[in-house]
Amino acid sequence: MGRLTGKTALVTGSSRGMGRAAAVRLAADGALVAVHYTSRKDAADEVVASIEKDGGRAFTVRAELGVPGDVHELFLGLESGLRERTGGTDLDILVNNAGVMGGVKPEDTTPEKFDELFAVNAKAPFFLIQRALKNMPDGGRIINITSGLTRFANPDEIAYAMTKGAVDQLALHFAKHLGSRNITVNSVAPGITRNDNPVFGIPEVVEQMAKMSTFNRVGEPEDVADVVAFLASDEARWITGSFVDATGGTLLG
Ligand code: NDP
Repeated sequence: MGRLTGKTALVTGSSRGMGRAAAVRLAADGALVAVHYTSRKDAADEVVASIEKDGGRAFTVRAELGVPGDVHELFLGLESGLRERTGGTDLDILVNNAGVMGGVKPEDTTPEKFDELFAVNAKAPFFLIQRALKNMPDGGRIINITSGLTRFANPDEIAYAMTKGAVDQLALHFAKHLGSRNITVNSVAPGITRNDNPVFGIPEVVEQMAKMSTFNRVGEPEDVADVVAFLASDEARWITGSFVDATGGTLLG
């Protein structure tokens, strides 16, 4: 039996990257996992197939975040998937992982881009938490993926970093709000972590990025997924409202 056997989890943006790794890890620990995506159905289906091949349980849920009706659509799919497999709609673990990078210089950041970043990265997690709390039993877990860029300057990502600064606030205030229900709320801040961005295929660029970590490598999705899995477990019951630096020492300076 895994340490999350009998638990249910939703990982937003788990068709790829860190979300995928977190979904796989939570399922390996025994949770029934909702693998959320917006456009890459093929990738989400592959995550479910991979989890099932290893004896785990998962299903896909589609919803574009950052648009009107996003949370409603996601929870329609989530509750239907949970009901089918468990007979109920309890959600024990919410991982707010889906996000979009900015990659635009401050002088080129349009109001439209700014609004999109905030809608997906900050507004959606807030309302996902608000909605998830209706389904979350006492002792639940909320984990929000923020970024080392809330503590490390990169002028090309000001608007993006602002959204993650907003995400950091979720842990502080919701943790206080939900203590009486024994629900923990924490932030996990990755540093540069491999995803399917083509830059990770260019050795010279990877070498430069690796230098930002004290371990002289870029992060792997599993480096972050393991932290998420710990915070989702009973072993992390005494940790709430925290900012967990999962940047591989990038913030050491
Ligand atoms: P990826 O870019 O690899 O994957 C993004 C995921 O989010 C995909 O599953 C994608 O779905 C989903 N997604 C994107 N936009 C939306 C949307 N509007 N609505 C619904 N789903 C959406 O992610 P990473 O692993 O790189 O990053 C994961 C998180 O970590 C993000 O919050 C990111 O900001 C943060 N982060 C990343 C760092 C990095 O170096 N990679 C560093 C620090 C923080 P689909 O596949 O369907 O498109």
